[in-house]
Amino acid sequence: MAWQCSGSSNDELVSNLVAAELASDRVAGAMRAVDRAYFAPRQPYADAPQLIGYEATISAPHMHALALSQLEPSLGAGARVLDVGCGSGYLLAVLARLVGPTGSVVGVEHIPELCTLATRNLARQGVAAGTDVDVICGDGRQPLPGRVFDAIHVGAAADEAAVAAVATMLAPGGRMFVPVRAADGEQYVYELRRDAAGALTRERKMGVRYVLLTDRSE
Ligand code: SAH
Repeated sequence: MAWQCSGSSNDELVSNLVAAELASDRVAGAMRAVDRAYFAPRQPYADAPQLIGYEATISAPHMHALALSQLEPSLGAGARVLDVGCGSGYLLAVLARLVGPTGSVVGVEHIPELCTLATRNLARQGVAAGTDVDVICGDGRQPLPGRVFDAIHVGAAADEAAVAAVATMLAPGGRMFVPVRAADGEQYVYELRRDAAGALTRERKMGVRYVLLTDRSE
């Protein structure tokens, strides 16, 4: 089902997200600079998720806008950002725009074909994987050794063990957006924050439906 924010162009889509108060001005500026047509195979300006193969989807524009707006206080110029389950690569391009050349953006994706797809989509947008952003092919439930991030986006529904493992990479002052799958199968987005002293807090946001953060074999 397409949400109310669908547009006939990238610009119109982003304007509709702003009008619906789903995207801040700064997030909207970055979303305007990245054309979804390079990342969504069909109807790129429809406000709906779309299949990109391997049972993965590019999330709906309103979810991208909400996630980016929630993380925005930690997405200043120079910030270090991680996107777990980067799929189409769309968010990597927007995040690179937000944190600028002094920032760093890392995507992790466990399906090799989707790593290739993300790299190709990013190139069409003029973003070079390996230079502007890093696309790592691997299991995003495992912490990347020695890496810490100011902002972490998780694009697939995680269980509590994965949430805990990924959150170990959150820097003091950092924020994490993660859909969490409860034992009853329901999913809710949580915002995790690590304070300056290192303590972790979390707040439940809205109910959602994401692809699972899981084993490749599944
Ligand atoms: N933000 C992406 C969402 C893609 S869907 C976009 O909008 O394009 C979620 C992605 O998570 C899928 O590509 C899926 O392959 C990936 N994924 C699922 N489990 C994973 C895991 N354990 N490690 C890394 N990626 C995973």
